[in-house]
Formats: sequence, C-alpha cells, structure tokens
Amino acid sequence: MLRTLEERDIRFVRLWFTDVLGYLKSVAIAPAELEGAFEEGIGFDGSAIEGFSRVSEADTVAKPDPTTFQILPWTTSKGEQHSARMFCDIAMPDGSPSWADSRHVLRRQLSKAADLGFSCYVHPEIEFFLCKELPDDGRPPVPADNGGYFDQAVHDEAPNFRRHAIDALESMGISVEFSHHEAAPGQQEIDLRYADALSMADNVMTFRYLVKEVAIDEGVRATFMPKPFSDQAGSAMHTHMSLFEGETNAFHNPDDPMQLSETGKAFIAGILEHANEISAVTNQWVNSYKRLIHGGEAPTAASWGPSNRSALVRVPMYTPNKASSRRVEIRSPDSACNPYLTFAVLLAAGLRGVEKGYTLPPEAEEDVWSLTSAERRAMGYRELPSSLNEALAAMEGSELVAEALGEHVFDYFLRNKRREWESYRSHVTPFELKTYLGL
Ligand code: GLU
Ligand code: MG
Ligand code: MG
Repeated sequence: MLRTLEERDIRFVRLWFTDVLGYLKSVAIAPAELEGAFEEGIGFDGSAIEGFSRVSEADTVAKPDPTTFQILPWTTSKGEQHSARMFCDIAMPDGSPSWADSRHVLRRQLSKAADLGFSCYVHPEIEFFLCKELPDDGRPPVPADNGGYFDQAVHDEAPNFRRHAIDALESMGISVEFSHHEAAPGQQEIDLRYADALSMADNVMTFRYLVKEVAIDEGVRATFMPKPFSDQAGSAMHTHMSLFEGETNAFHNPDDPMQLSETGKAFIAGILEHANEISAVTNQWVNSYKRLIHGGEAPTAASWGPSNRSALVRVPMYTPNKASSRRVEIRSPDSACNPYLTFAVLLAAGLRGVEKGYTLPPEAEEDVWSLTSAERRAMGYRELPSSLNEALAAMEGSELVAEALGEHVFDYFLRNKRREWESYRSHVTPFELKTYLGL
C-alpha cells in the first residue's frame, strides 16, 4: 500500500466511515500519517457525528481497514493528484469497538451467522434518479431524461452516464452485473455482483458517492431519495441474499421444485415474521413509506412467491439450476437505507427463522396488489407499516432488532426517528392547503 501511494503520487488518503443514519463521513490524512493511523487510529470528536458518543465521552478513534484500500477514480479537481480511500472500524479510546459503529453492528451479526456455520452473500439492485438539478427549497426536481424501462434512447444522457459510473465502480473493484433505465423518467438501476455482506455494505456506500460524483461530471444530479415523485415509482434497493456453508450454498436443494432448501425456506419465513419490526431500518425515512404503496412494484404486505413481484420476498427463477445462485430477493429496502444496519437486521430476521425452524406460509399466488386489505388479511398476509410512525411502534417492541442493533444504536435510532416523525407530523403540507383551504 505504501508503495502504491508513492508510485501513484497519492496526495491524500481518505478515511471513511458511516454514521447511524447512513451518511458517509471522511477524514483525509497525508500518506506520511498512515503508519500511525494503522497503529493507533485517528482520533476524532464522536459527539459531533449522528448517533455516536455523548459529549462527555467524545473521544473516538477511526482505525483504517487495509483490505478496503482503493484509489479513487479521479482527482478531486482536474489536474490535482489522486486520493485513495479506506473504510474504518470505529473504536473507543480503550480500543474496544464502538457500539455506534454500523460496520461493527454488521460484523457482530456476521459472527453470529458464522457461529451457526454460515457466511452471508449479498447482491443489491440499486435504483436512483438522475435529475437536472436538486432544488433545496421544496420545488420538485426535473428528471434528466424521458426514458422508460430498458429504454436505449439515442438522445439520452443515461447510457453515457451509466457507462462512466460503471467504469468508476469497476476501477475501485466493485463489479457490476447489469444496468438499465428503470420505469420512471430519469430513473436508473445498477446491479452489483454478489460479495460478502460486509464488503457489499462498503460497496453500497462507495456506490452512492461515485454515482453522485459521476452525475455532477455529466452535468446532472443523482438522488437516492426513496420517492421523489408522487406519480412515479420510487427507488428500491432489492437485496438478494444467500447463506453458504463453506463452498456449499445452504439455500440450494436440487430436489425441491424451486430448488430451495429447508434453510432457504426458514430464512424467508423469518423475514416475513419479523418484516414489520425491521421496517424502520430497511425503510428509515418519512418519505420511504410513500414508496411502499400499491402500484409502482413495491411490496405492501409480508408475502412471498417465486417470481412474484408484488411480494415482499421473491425467489428469482432465472437460473434455477445453478446451485451457487440460489438466493432470495427481499424487495422492501430502499436506496436511502444504511446498508450495514439493513443487512444486519435482514440477516437477524432470516437467521431467527433458520434457528427456530419457522415454517414458510403458503406462497402468494396472486398479485397481492389487486387484493383488498380485508382479502389480504383473510389470506394471512400482514400489512407492512404504512408510515414511519407505525414502523417505529413495531420496532420499539422488538427484542430481535434491539439485539441486532445493540442497545446504543437501537435507542439512538428510535429517539432520532421519533423526532423526524414529530417534525413531519406538525408540518402543514401543500397537499393539505390545496385540499382543505376552502373549508
Ligand atoms: N422501483 C420499484 C420499487 O420501488 C421496483 C421496480 C423493480 O421491480 O425493479 O420497489
Ligand atoms: Mg428495478
Ligand atoms: Mg429485483
């Protein structure tokens, strides 16, 4: 690494970590400081970071993880030297891992999976919008193009944008499997090739950063807001997961009609059973719940089915005979989640199903969207929370989520999100003025 820094004439090494709400944080150090950073870490004021320490215990240490060293694809402004980045684990001054560190939350969950003999692989399909600009005064944005699902338009910025974004991602070791225009004007999707869950959470953080930077280079802006347009679909981060025992995919059973093992079925049952409790993490913003409505291909009830796109969990049937690719697709998470916490609670819910041997309820044969809520209840589906408020109520009573996040993140998250809800709730919206002013 030190040799690369010298050969490539790297000016700064950016140390990255993620706050509890999923915002990327960065501190840049000179290459000469690197050895010290590896030995002692870099101290910073944890009380100034969302969800980290209280003021009285503010000293926090960022310890770079050398396996995540990568050179950023561009110079920050043209003509300058390159920078590199590394993700950090966050520690308390005594060297113990910080309870506020999202990366540590996911590491803890992965080590629980390892105790049961499993490693966890993830591949996300990340949707987002390209807009001409992102006004910050409440005006709606204007999509950067007029394309639709899979469109390859000639006079369209999107294919160029996607090519440059993929070049940038691959230069940092993040492989892309597919990319295409999504259903709504301006909406794009890029699907990453699977990786272990921790690397993938790092990859998602890098992805958002690179996509925003490439967009600016192309004269547009990218947003991962879950639902920027009332009359268009929102942006999902469909999350494909599988558990491996050594080299063997624990979700694969060649003798099952869906080639899905009992472990895979119990994992789905766990996700369905705990769907409401984990919702505040997978869909963490007030705006997230405007996406989870009928229409727009987003799930609204805890159901599952092979290939069923109205369901919360789908068992993709494209390559049913390939053992290594048997997996489940969870369709609720949105593109503005904290990927570490999201993968941690999904894994906790699925593993609970496996450990306790939950039985999988019957599949959703029908289009769940076409049923009334009474019909859905009669068929045994639970409605997903319809607001952040409902999601927080479900999370508050969840021993599963408290254990997965740890007490510190659990309490902070609930307090912070209650504040978000209260501030939204007291706000009179343009919708209300339009509808009720004449009363
Ligand atoms: N954009 C849709 C959503 O918000 C998903 C579309 C798809 O199936 O890829 O869930
Ligand atoms: Mg999609
Ligand atoms: Mg999908």
